[in-house]
Amino acid sequence: MAATKKDSNDHRKEASLDAALRDREIRQKTYRERALKIFPWVCGKCGREFSGKKIRELTVHHKDHNHENNPPDGSNWELLCLYCHDNEHSRFLDVEWCDTPAPGSTDNPVTTHTPFSALKDMLVNKK
Ligand SMILES: [Zn+2]
Ligand SMILES: [Zn+2]
Repeated sequence: MAATKKDSNDHRKEASLDAALRDREIRQKTYRERALKIFPWVCGKCGREFSGKKIRELTVHHKDHNHENNPPDGSNWELLCLYCHDNEHSRFLDVEWCDTPAPGSTDNPVTTHTPFSALKDMLVNKK
């Protein structure tokens, strides 16, 4: 394991999506990998599907907003795309996800969705 501690302290404020993603990836690495094994690679809000390189845009949201709470069955996790995740956190203004503005906030593909209709879609579309 190559643990690069300095990356988490050294916040370069580049407007680069790649840098932001890499930073998030490092922080999320362990539980994210576990979550990706448990859940289908679909955003729980907008229903977008992810595969290959795009999987980097799929993130793990903590339902109780406590990222120390990582039960092995994944009951506190929800997979969300970057846009929906930023959206989710901007509503609550909690600390887990508010360090950077949404890189694509001017380009949000879904603005009228509701969490429940997305949930319903997930259940209906289960393949
Ligand atoms: Zn989404
Ligand atoms: Zn979250």
